[in-house]
Amino acid sequence: MFVENQNTNPPPRPIPKRECKCGCGHNFQPNRKDQVYLNKQHADFGYNHGQRKTKQANRLKVEKILRKNDLILKKFFALSKDPTVTIMLENLKADGFRSEYNIGREKDKSGNLFFFLYNYAFRIVIRDNKKLIIIKKL
Ligand SMILES: [Zn+2]
Repeated sequence: MFVENQNTNPPPRPIPKRECKCGCGHNFQPNRKDQVYLNKQHADFGYNHGQRKTKQANRLKVEKILRKNDLILKKFFALSKDPTVTIMLENLKADGFRSEYNIGREKDKSGNLFFFLYNYAFRIVIRDNKKLIIIKKL
């Protein structure tokens, strides 16, 4: 007796071709849905020139901000001969100072929390509703 094939499911669709993520411009037929590189060589190349480059670019960007912060502290610290210098934070911000970028923090003997840059440390205090920055040399 003839039995009609009841399987009406369409055959599995091949995964569409895609362009290799490494930037080589090759189109390839992926074997798996999550395959984004043509092969391991392309994956290694993609990693070295993509992700690593991005990581390095981010690191350089942060280091640049830290160096700039340190130079801004140096500039304002030099305005006075006192061991610590207190200035309106606004003035430093106008120069591009970004207090959220620092390389560490530590409390001094009096319990004041200082944030560190390479050659200077600072702390921010509020007096009369104004943000002041206290700078000291390391
Ligand atoms: Zn490739």
